[in-house]
Amino acid sequence: MTNPEKMNISIKPPRGTRDVLPAESEQWQKLEELARKTLKSAGYKEIRLPIFEQTELFCRTAGEGSDVVNKEMYTFADKADRSLTLRPEGTAQAARAYLNSSMDRLRPPTKLFYMGQYFRNEAVQTGRYRQFNQLGLEAFGSASPLLDAETIAIACDFLKKAGVAEFEVQINSLGCSTCRPAYREALKEKLRDRLSTLCKDCCDRYERNPLRMLDCKVEADQEQFIDVPGPLDYLCADCESQWEALTLALGQLRVPFAVNRRLVRGLDYYTRTVFEIVSQDSRLGAQSTIAAGGRYDNLIESLGGPPTPAVGWAVGLERLLLLLETPPTTNVDVFVVSTDVDVALQVATSLRQAGISADLDFPVTGTKSRSFTKQLQEANKLGCRWAVIIGENELAKNEVALKDMRIKGLQISVPIADLPKKLRELT
Ligand code: ATP
Ligand code: MG
Repeated sequence: MTNPEKMNISIKPPRGTRDVLPAESEQWQKLEELARKTLKSAGYKEIRLPIFEQTELFCRTAGEGSDVVNKEMYTFADKADRSLTLRPEGTAQAARAYLNSSMDRLRPPTKLFYMGQYFRNEAVQTGRYRQFNQLGLEAFGSASPLLDAETIAIACDFLKKAGVAEFEVQINSLGCSTCRPAYREALKEKLRDRLSTLCKDCCDRYERNPLRMLDCKVEADQEQFIDVPGPLDYLCADCESQWEALTLALGQLRVPFAVNRRLVRGLDYYTRTVFEIVSQDSRLGAQSTIAAGGRYDNLIESLGGPPTPAVGWAVGLERLLLLLETPPTTNVDVFVVSTDVDVALQVATSLRQAGISADLDFPVTGTKSRSFTKQLQEANKLGCRWAVIIGENELAKNEVALKDMRIKGLQISVPIADLPKKLRELT
């Protein structure tokens, strides 16, 4: 028979997923805290959405021809044979929730943000996983290009505050349903003779969604696209004035940007503004995009809602973390040292209730504590600022010794009842 203990050890997390261990989780918490603070300060409110959705939601919005829908979705049937999909992205979900909760009746823009896990069945490599985390925001109900500029400025602010040293904002406009058809035709015309040299995916995209060809990850294909026209060359008057207002506003907000005339996005619902925030940092491996987004003025309608212009973005948090050093984790402030575990636990508990973080040494087996020296060594190893030492003599006087772990030999006597107050005074 197989030894169950051995069997467990051989079970690893599924490919493309990973465990975030304590050495790293604190960094996640800090990033999440910063995200909430930054987005709330710009009027965005958090929305928490289901991990799985009806498959149709993503087919209707991302587009049947998109890589996400065609190749990357984790789709399964539930017991009632309904087709469900682990969410591959957040925009369609946020749009669904916006409609389901009648947020379209609120004064626009409705500003929402979310954070959480997303799932795509992709080729796993550095910066590309099967379960990954995104921070995303969506603003529904305004067509103002100043809102596009604001969302880009917020993304840059967040990345800077998170500690990303260098990045570049790339922007483009995909036009709208008025001007895009002429651009599509021009692009097809230019690429017709090159089809035999392009990859199979590009040949498929040629008829279905030729703009998507420009997003091809095959390098040799990209070389063939260097001289093709961009959608910017075909913008209608409305799109042109939106574009000008966007570039002007970014300048006023002091957001440096580069125009990338061949930038398109992988999902079908984008209109007008699209942007990516990229970094050439080698820690990202073959990936360079940290954040991406744009305007999607037709998405809400495609879900059966009223015409609702909207704009949003998502940051890949694993990619962002690849660009940051992992800081050492912090520990509790106080380590309670006593050879009597009961007493140590009572003192630690009362400190915690008073809002001071504290821990103690638990015997691994039985009830016998380790020596004072061993416990102090432990406090030192954990990097605690203070040790509260409770010896028998002190206890008899209802006192404890408070030891500053940073300064050798510095120790004072404090009545137990005054301990929280004293600690607060000293820190
Ligand atoms: P890519 O072109 O790199 O596949 P995408 O266009 O599919 O990206 P979006 O759907 O725009 O990506 O997602 C926004 C961000 O989420 C990306 O810029 C990236 O930082 C992150 N992201 C997307 N897919 C993954 C993944 N499989 N693993 C980790 N992060 C991802
Ligand atoms: Mg992708």
